[in-house]
Amino acid sequence: MRFLRIFWIVPLLSLLWFRTPYDTSTDLQKWMDPQSKKIHVLGTTRMCASLVEKVGGDRVHVWTLIDEDLDPHSYQLVKGDKEKFRRADLVVANGLHLEHGRSLSALLKKSKTLFLGDRIYAQSPGLFLPMDEGLDPHFWMDVSLFSKSVPYIVEALQQIDPDHSGEYAIRGGELLLELDQLDHKIRVRMSKIPLEKRYLVTSHDAFQYFARRYLVDNGALGDFKDHFFAPEGVSPDGQIGAIDIQKIIQHVVKNRVLVVFAESNISKDSLNKILEACHAQGVELRLSKTDLYADSMGEESYIKMMEHNSKVIQQELTLEYGDE
Ligand SMILES: [Zn+2]
Repeated sequence: MRFLRIFWIVPLLSLLWFRTPYDTSTDLQKWMDPQSKKIHVLGTTRMCASLVEKVGGDRVHVWTLIDEDLDPHSYQLVKGDKEKFRRADLVVANGLHLEHGRSLSALLKKSKTLFLGDRIYAQSPGLFLPMDEGLDPHFWMDVSLFSKSVPYIVEALQQIDPDHSGEYAIRGGELLLELDQLDHKIRVRMSKIPLEKRYLVTSHDAFQYFARRYLVDNGALGDFKDHFFAPEGVSPDGQIGAIDIQKIIQHVVKNRVLVVFAESNISKDSLNKILEACHAQGVELRLSKTDLYADSMGEESYIKMMEHNSKVIQQELTLEYGDE
């Protein structure tokens, strides 16, 4: 009996021993390690972090601050975030006021932050789209535009680690090539959707840049704004009202839209309200079978995220065409 008791106590003790609060996040513990020789980069979103990982390769260790399904528009600092900022050799943010949660925004401004969107905007303001009072921050949805971030990331890493400048330049060049191929692939994919079917209705206003780049051919096929509609505005925390629903129904009927796209990190409540209202008025509309990634992503890289989005859009819109 005594032997049996010890037999149970030892694994129980070891369980208690290992269950310290830190062990729920061993990866973070590794990233925080002050002994690490790598460049520690804190990316606000997975999209920013993904580009830095590609350029930095083995020389960087990147942590994403706003990961999983969290909303970058409204994210506020939580316990432990300030320590991450202190540990980071470089902070890379999307910018253009995407990260506008008050506490995060203040800390980003105080830190050594590379605001990707703002740096590109300073060089080429004409490439960005207005939204409400400011600029639309979702510029990662146009691969050709987001790829302009790469030289700034290369430059920032070279400044921190000048001994390996050449490596960052080479990897940056390779990434630009990959992104150029991706951009081309998405354009080809979208061109296979008949123009009259290229209408995107999504939860919130994240796909303006996508519509401009991929749903119309350089404006030759009409205004991209007609090909895109989002009931929840710029930030996904808005409440949808009866007037918004009626506007959507008008858009759906006018353009013969048959599918609305859900986004992975946004509640489907508003979309379901729209579907109910449509069905009540005898308008045919359905929800996409697969969610799109807008402000967060479930893929391991930015490239895979955009591959996913473009495949889902093509599939959903073309399936509808095939069904007719
Ligand atoms: Zn958004």
